[in-house]
Amino acid sequence: MAQVCDRCKKSMGFLDKWKCKDGVVCYDCIKDLDKSIRNNLKLYTVEQIKYMIDNPDISSDKAYQPQQYKCSNSVVIFNPIDRSLSITTAGFFRSEAIPYSSIMGYDYREDDQSKGRYGKMIGAAALGGLVFGGAGAIIGALTQKRGEVRYIKRAEIAVSYKKEGHIETAHIWVLDSKFNDKIKSTSYQYKALLDEANKIMLMLDEIITSGDENQES
Ligand SMILES: [Zn+2]
Repeated sequence: MAQVCDRCKKSMGFLDKWKCKDGVVCYDCIKDLDKSIRNNLKLYTVEQIKYMIDNPDISSDKAYQPQQYKCSNSVVIFNPIDRSLSITTAGFFRSEAIPYSSIMGYDYREDDQSKGRYGKMIGAAALGGLVFGGAGAIIGALTQKRGEVRYIKRAEIAVSYKKEGHIETAHIWVLDSKFNDKIKSTSYQYKALLDEANKIMLMLDEIITSGDENQES
């Protein structure tokens, strides 16, 4: 039996069918939505999709669009609708959705060495070695080291978040030695890597500082 679109109730062929978070919609219904929304349809419920179709000015608003960052071996998606972050590694393994409100901080590491942290306080201890700054301070410190040539094999942003009373870590691999050659700290690739890491850390800074204070215990 052919499936019907959850919005217009039209029956759909196989190629016409688009999966979203809690149902399916047809191509005709979603064709005018922004590409960044169409490509991440699984992030949205049928209700949210209906709302965006009925309010085209809203669906073209960046605030509703998922922000996606491609790294060496992972894709990071910031989902503004349900306010969560997920990481897809190696093209198929998708992490659980990490709610923004659970994110405590992050640590930018190169070859397992911390190059700068940012985060909230947990109990008496600051998770962030650097309580000021954030992405700007971390990238600034790294780019100031002129003259010193290093080779970097791995770079990651380790995101700390609360889950059932524990602190868990999610790894965003910006450079992965399994998939990339080592890079020189004076190279263009390194600059590009820092640019990408910077964008992701800026998003995290915003999430961390933008509150959800009432959820703090
Ligand atoms: Zn439809």
